[in-house]
Amino acid sequence: MQNIRNLLRKYYGYADFRPGQAEIIDSLLKGTDTLAVMPTGAGKSLCYQLPALALPGTAIVVSPLISLMKDQLDALQGAGILAAYINSSLTGAEVNERLYNARRGRYKLLYVAPERLESEYFRTAVRDLEISLLAIDEAHCISQWGHDFRPSYRAIGPFIDSLAARPVVGAFTATATDNVKQDIIELLGLRNPATHYTGVDRANLSFTVIRGENKKEFVQKYIAANKDKAGIIYAATRKEVDNLYAALRKAGWPAGKYHAGLGDAERRESQEAFIRDDISVMVATNAFGMGIDKPDVRYVIHYNMPKNMEAYYQEAGRAGRDGDPGECILLFAAQDIQLQKFLIEQTVLDGERKTGEFGRLQAMVDYCHTPACLRQYILAYFGEQAAAGECGNCGNCNAGAEPVDITVEAQKVLSCVARLKERYGISLVAEVLKGAKNKKVRQLGVDTLSVYGLLKEYSLQELKDLTNRLIATGYLRLSDGEYPVVKLTNEGAAVLRGEARVWQKALQKPRLTATDNSLFERLRALRKSIADRLGVPPYVVFADSTLKEMCAYRPTDRHALRLIKGVGETKLERFGDDFLQAIRQDCAEDN
Ligand code: ADP
Ligand code: ZN
Repeated sequence: MQNIRNLLRKYYGYADFRPGQAEIIDSLLKGTDTLAVMPTGAGKSLCYQLPALALPGTAIVVSPLISLMKDQLDALQGAGILAAYINSSLTGAEVNERLYNARRGRYKLLYVAPERLESEYFRTAVRDLEISLLAIDEAHCISQWGHDFRPSYRAIGPFIDSLAARPVVGAFTATATDNVKQDIIELLGLRNPATHYTGVDRANLSFTVIRGENKKEFVQKYIAANKDKAGIIYAATRKEVDNLYAALRKAGWPAGKYHAGLGDAERRESQEAFIRDDISVMVATNAFGMGIDKPDVRYVIHYNMPKNMEAYYQEAGRAGRDGDPGECILLFAAQDIQLQKFLIEQTVLDGERKTGEFGRLQAMVDYCHTPACLRQYILAYFGEQAAAGECGNCGNCNAGAEPVDITVEAQKVLSCVARLKERYGISLVAEVLKGAKNKKVRQLGVDTLSVYGLLKEYSLQELKDLTNRLIATGYLRLSDGEYPVVKLTNEGAAVLRGEARVWQKALQKPRLTATDNSLFERLRALRKSIADRLGVPPYVVFADSTLKEMCAYRPTDRHALRLIKGVGETKLERFGDDFLQAIRQDCAEDN
């Protein structure tokens, strides 16, 4: 393994393995078929790339998406590793050239799309190739139980059987359910496989739920405080995406948008701009994600609550794939529940499945309400035992603020709901408390109620927020149906009778003020200009964590720079001097 560590330093500039990596690599090097289940961002690629570098011959890597292959290749070439891919984006002549090179042993890794394995031409071409290892990325695509079933993955098993000399096989996935694992092992024909499971926890991600907040305002403030970071904002509908996108552009933010209603070209451009850091905020529906492999997404904000925890964790998990901190924020509003219920009603016809979907939705809603550690909630949901105690890295664990007694305000809202006979929605409740003078209020005659104008010192939005918060914490609830009305719960009634008080921690809010980071800005700009010149995404030049280490240690010579995490030999050669110069300049200006 010392040899492998040296390769890790030399090509990737990393000093240590991440959890699980050493075991998986060791297992493959010993010739044991291996199934590795690791969460997104845990570092699966290195687990087959390092054995590929260490073993004689060429590793074949099966990968499902053309865009992912290209990203991987850019990264490998950036690190000075010889590799190529073969997929449908190439001409016949290009394919032949690469196969020719492969047979001459010019690549350590050859990436192929699964369809390719069915081609007789390809099978013949690789017949006399020395295959060091066969790696299957996103191996869950082979299973119909998974969410990304790809029929062409079924060609992999027969392909392995067709090889004269069977190489060791490594299968990689983030999906851990038993059905999927079983399918992978059987359908690939793994022999006495070793299974490595590193768990679903993503320690570098923080989780926060924010309830009853003005979402648009929150997002604007958040982006203002996180200008130099890349982030994704997921919204539930195309319309919501369009609106938020327009608002952000109007405020001058470098935002892009992505949803299924846009043309292919428009979507591609938008995705490309995001990967290249031309824009920093992507406003999108859940159509955005499959196939984006940007490792340095620093935050994922959910503008609406998604339909279940699986979807949430997958989308939020797109933050921090490079292992650096990522912030996952869910902006909860009670209306989102109605929307998701509506979508289930519309799309799920089978009665039993519908009940299942409603159950999973409820687990999602509970996540938004739980006062306990959010990470523990997530791990428990996915069937894992969390370490005892609070995680210290989620909104609920961090909410250090003392709870405040808001009983009086709460009683006023609750009594307004009661006076309105539990027959109206959130807006009217807020308008009555505000003492709004509009046609609806006059027509309904609610301006004569004793609660009219009872909280007029608050803004209409603040009153809606407060109502939402009381819904989210169970003092009120919304009825089902298209036009939900606000109703009292037993807890709410008790407060109204003066039998219980309402204490609420001021909710922990993500930091909304920017920190000064001029060297980071400078290095980021340099990285961007080099990346543009080379036509690769910025993270291929250096990861965020590498730039951050440079800011912290301020290396001023090549020797010191080589010690920074992520600076391998090739990158030192290619980019070292430019970055050293930028750091020296910054030091000079500081003095
Ligand atoms: P996955 O495929 O599991 O989602 P990747 O293989 O894309 O994850 O790795 C995610 C990120 O972590 C990449 O930027 C990679 O360079 C980085 N990484 C992987 N292994 C290590 C390590 N041992 N030390 C530091 N960074 C690592
Ligand atoms: Zn926690």
